[in-house]
Amino acid sequence: MPSHDALVIGAGLVGSAIALRLAQEGLQVALLEQSAPGREASWAGAGMLSPAPDSPAAIPLVPFGRASLSLYAQFVGEIEEISGRQTGYRSEGAIELLFSADAERELSTLIALHHALGLPTEPLPLDEAAKIEPALTRRAHAAAYFPYEACIDNRALIGALLAAAEISGVKMFPNMHVSQILIEHGRCTGAQAEDGTTFKAQNVVIAAGAFSGLLKGIVPPLATRPIRGQMVAFNSHEKTIRHVIRCDRGYLVPRDSARPQRLVTGSTLEDAGFDKRVTAGGIEKILSTAQELVPQLSNAEIAETWSGLRPDTPDHLPLLGPAGVDGLTIATGHYRNGILLTPITAKLVREWIVEKCVSMDWEIFDPLRFHRAKEESARSDDSPSENPASDNEAAGDQAGRKFAHK
Ligand SMILES: Cc1cc2nc3c(=O)[nH]c(=O)nc-3n(C[C@H](O)[C@H](O)[C@H](O)COP(=O)(O)OP(=O)(O)OC[C@H]3O[C@@H](n4cnc5c(N)ncnc54)[C@H](O)[C@@H]3O)c2cc1C
Repeated sequence: MPSHDALVIGAGLVGSAIALRLAQEGLQVALLEQSAPGREASWAGAGMLSPAPDSPAAIPLVPFGRASLSLYAQFVGEIEEISGRQTGYRSEGAIELLFSADAERELSTLIALHHALGLPTEPLPLDEAAKIEPALTRRAHAAAYFPYEACIDNRALIGALLAAAEISGVKMFPNMHVSQILIEHGRCTGAQAEDGTTFKAQNVVIAAGAFSGLLKGIVPPLATRPIRGQMVAFNSHEKTIRHVIRCDRGYLVPRDSARPQRLVTGSTLEDAGFDKRVTAGGIEKILSTAQELVPQLSNAEIAETWSGLRPDTPDHLPLLGPAGVDGLTIATGHYRNGILLTPITAKLVREWIVEKCVSMDWEIFDPLRFHRAKEESARSDDSPSENPASDNEAAGDQAGRKFAHK
């Protein structure tokens, strides 16, 4: 029966970064992955590193996203150095185009909201936008510039991170589908795989992304659900754009690490269970937005289409922290921001396990919050909102706020 100091379940960006941080502390770490490591959401994502909120529900995430972004350059430098691989990190910033008749007012609202959240977003005059990105459409009515944003080739990053973890001593177990978390006398003692292998450990970390809610043995079960996102990549022989370009319906992300340059464009937000099919309707919507942003893409060669499953939660915020049972820590539910949030998540989980206390407020991400809210409402017999996220969204819409697509 294999025995380790820590088991990490799920070899996406989140699990691999946590495994690396724990191994760097001298812990014997096993990283258990149900299929090939790094081939789920962490592979499928667009790689934008944007702490800007993409909906009113994401506003509480902004400080966490800013903290993670501030760690990114160093995180990537370290991973590249250990692994000897490049990750395609670039920090040119992002441009958002606004198309509505009321674009100027929307721009002022967006800038005011971002400044209140500590994000130095700037208005970008349209002639300036055309100078720095000549391929952009001239049909937008206003533009904003996000000089602090970055992006990364997340496929390159997950490859480098897995290599760095292995070099640092993490033991990989690919094709190891964990079915059951083992709890004995109020303590988590390990996990059991579908093939019957039992792994014993002092610490178990759940980083199984959209699949986390399927794990048996965790009470209450983790409130994750998959939200499908479809994607398209173009081959771009003449480096069509340098910045991430977005609007409220989609985005374009340049990836120079591929030869020729690739432009990754997305996406859809679909509640389709674990179905990862790419559909005509999804691709049509993505292609029409991409061509609206950069008209010359109507002649571009489509290199690839794919989809991935974002790990969503009822309030769209991550599930992070101790799970109410000794030895069990949760790190999942990163929804549309898991690539951005990987460094800060790994930092916090290392602090929980190694230092037993953390350096940031994390209570809004408490993995037991839905359960606690249910218990409280049963006690007070007060009926709370059925869906806090949609209440927030309605409030945001009334305030006339503008949110970009991620
Ligand atoms: C189309 C799309 C675009 C996105 N764009 C962005 C973006 O621009 N910026 C951003 O920050 N985020 C983005 N995201 C979100 C981001 O990709 C995710 O939040 C992040 O990758 C989640 O990482 P993870 O490691 O938690 O999950 P995953 O990468 O899904 O990894 C979880 C792993 O756990 C494994 N696993 C699951 N169950 C078990 C089990 N029982 N036993 C063993 N292993 C198991 C899975 O096989 C998987 O490899 C996007 C996502 C999608 C789908």
